[in-house]
Amino acid sequence: MSNPCLKCPTEQSCCRELHGLKINDAEYTRLFAGKSEHLTVSRKGKLYELSSIGNGPCPNWDQQCQVYGNRPMDCDLYPYTMGNVFEGDGEVYATYHSRTECPLTAELLGPREKAEAMILKFLTDTYGEHCKVTVRYDEGAARLYHLARRAAAKAKRLLAGEKA
Ligand code: SF4
Ligand code: SF4
Repeated sequence: MSNPCLKCPTEQSCCRELHGLKINDAEYTRLFAGKSEHLTVSRKGKLYELSSIGNGPCPNWDQQCQVYGNRPMDCDLYPYTMGNVFEGDGEVYATYHSRTECPLTAELLGPREKAEAMILKFLTDTYGEHCKVTVRYDEGAARLYHLARRAAAKAKRLLAGEKA
């Protein structure tokens, strides 16, 4: 399977510094069991959230992802990423957004319908068919992120102008 991330201008920074990867039991057992020495692993409901200790790499990364064809849904979803996942009374509500730092976002970001279908399947597999799963794109978070980026770019331009 070809991996577009091999031409990543940040040399796959999203794999070399793991922050808050959401995975389920099956993915943990398949891909991370016995490899958690350099990770903080927190359990949130039926999900795990993984981050590397000291900004280290994902244990599945060695020059490139070693499990690319079998990677977790949250990796496959990127540059979209899951936000909060709320659960209770037989229902799960999840948000997702695209305020990520991926430099190839324009090339890699697929349609929202596809991202939503992936999250829906992942959460249904995780919580079971009996659970009602709702997935929503987080417009607010995405808008805030883009406003902050524009403000930062404007400040940079102003500073550059002042120095010139
Ligand atoms: S998803 Fe984006 S940031 Fe991550 S390796 Fe691929 S191109 Fe780089
Ligand atoms: S499993 Fe692969 S794609 Fe996902 S963070 Fe680790 S190295 Fe990157």
